[in-house]
Amino acid sequence: MPLFQNATFLITVNHLRDLPQHTGLEVAFAGRSNAGKSSAINTLANRNRLAYVSKTPGRTQHINYFSLGNDRYLVDLPGYGYAKVPPSIKQHWENLLSTYLQVRLPLCGLVLIMDIRHPFTPLDCKMLDWFLPTGKPVHILLTKSDKLSRQQATETLGKAKAELARSYPNCTVQLFSSLKRQGIEEAEKMIGSWLSAPSPTESVAAEQNEQT
Ligand code: GDP
Repeated sequence: MPLFQNATFLITVNHLRDLPQHTGLEVAFAGRSNAGKSSAINTLANRNRLAYVSKTPGRTQHINYFSLGNDRYLVDLPGYGYAKVPPSIKQHWENLLSTYLQVRLPLCGLVLIMDIRHPFTPLDCKMLDWFLPTGKPVHILLTKSDKLSRQQATETLGKAKAELARSYPNCTVQLFSSLKRQGIEEAEKMIGSWLSAPSPTESVAAEQNEQT
């Protein structure tokens, strides 16, 4: 069954103090606007318009939570890189995103969406720089891989792997196409492995059970 099959919209958050409290795990999706994040989430969920909740006016600059069941959550982070955003809103985003990525305990991994034709923009690297000190994993989807020939896509993947080995060793990367439905299994395997681990709270509870 697709990992996000049972996803339902939970809440939109605009301030860190409003982040939902739970004892499970969450995985966050981030990416430059128009990179294909909503399409990738919808493809992984096997649904047409799940992530478009996050595109409704008033929600685009916010953090949108979806419940996956079993105390697991998908977090759709605001797309970044719009040219015409006023500096005050940019600042708000940066604070919201950087703090969320750095301090959020239930967050167990980041899926970073990059258009295969424009990978590793400066803002993508900023996201990586904020998140990697946490030691948590990042998985990059090089989306719209159907826009390149197979050979070009493989070459870009090879270059991305080399870049990661040099600068971001805790990162993995793969090709993905929502249009061609390519890369779904590989992405599900990675994200599923993150979400199937016990959360910090669940680990403590299991230990206490063992002791009693
Ligand atoms: P977001 O802003 O990152 O959420 O991006 P969207 O998912 O809305 O996609 C932006 C545009 O790219 C839309 O026109 C999509 O139809 C298109 N798109 C998204 N994924 C793919 C893909 O895998 N292949 C192709 N060819 N187009 C895609």
